[in-house]
Parts: sequence; structure tokens; C-alpha cells
Amino acid sequence: MEKSLILVKPDGVERGLTGTILSRLEELGLKLVAIRMLHADKELAERHYAVHRDKPFFNDLVNYITSSPIVAAVFEGEDVVNRIRKACGATDPAKSEKGTIRGDFGLDIGRNTIHASDSPETAAIEVDTFFAGGDICQYTRMR
Ligand code: UDP
Ligand code: MG
Repeated sequence: MEKSLILVKPDGVERGLTGTILSRLEELGLKLVAIRMLHADKELAERHYAVHRDKPFFNDLVNYITSSPIVAAVFEGEDVVNRIRKACGATDPAKSEKGTIRGDFGLDIGRNTIHASDSPETAAIEVDTFFAGGDICQYTRMR
């Protein structure tokens, strides 16, 4: 089954939005299969955002994501990657629709509250970055 890795970023955790964000994803009928809170170090952050290594915002991104704890979670479901990306809204909260997580809670393009995998292939790598195989739980999601 397809998986997606999400991170509640520091601005989400610090403003007490973790539960709200997880609720929005659970309410889509998606199955939460792993979750942990952590304070990412530079090595982990650079690995997670390696694709952006050469972007001008890379250092700010790594500094931000390591500035305070985050919550990492894995959701599972059909088309889960696309469904979560839609629920998140555009990268820049100024351009995200109301009713999306970033549109409702994002502060600016850096402090945009949530990370979500952008493809099933990326998701598989990102899940492995934050979780061990044995951390992924199996159960039936009731509707
Ligand atoms: N980002 C930024 N400035 C930019 C583009 C992106 O600070 O011009 C940050 C933003 O927080 C974003 C993250 O870098 O969530 C990763 O960028 P990506 O293009 O992968 O956006 P996402 O997949 O998170 O929507
Ligand atoms: Mg991305």
C-alpha cells in the first residue's frame, strides 16, 4: 500500500497544531501507521532535504527544521501522496487555498507548517529516513 511521510514542522509543533494537522489527515480516511517526535540534527535534515542541496534556501531550510522539535508520521492509503499534498496546499502559504493546512496555518514559505512526500518513490526513501521497518504498524482502518 502507498505511503507518505509527513513532518509537522517547528512552527506547527510550537503553536500546538500537531493534533489538528494529524486530525485533518485522519479525517481523509488515511491510516496513520507510524509516528514519532524528534529534534532533528543537521545530518538528518541535510539527508532529508538532499534534493535541495544546491538551492539558495538550503541552509535556511536545514537551520529551520533543526531549530526545534518536529513530529514525523507515516500515513498509508490509496493515492495517499497526492491526497496529502492536496490537503497541504501550495508550498507558499500566501498562495495556498483556504481550507488547506498551509493556507490556514502557514506563516511564510519557510514556516509552512508541514512537509509531505511528493511522490510514492520519494515517500519510500523519506519513510526510511525517519523510521525503521519495524516501526510501521499494521491494522485495519475502520471508516
Ligand atoms: N522553501 C523555501 N524557499 C523556496 C522554496 C522552498 O524556503 O523558495 C522551503 C519550503 O519550506 C518548502 C521546502 O523548502 O516546504 C521544500 O521545498 P519544496 O520545493 O520541496 O516544497 P514542498 O514540497 O515542501 O511543497
Ligand atoms: Mg518537496
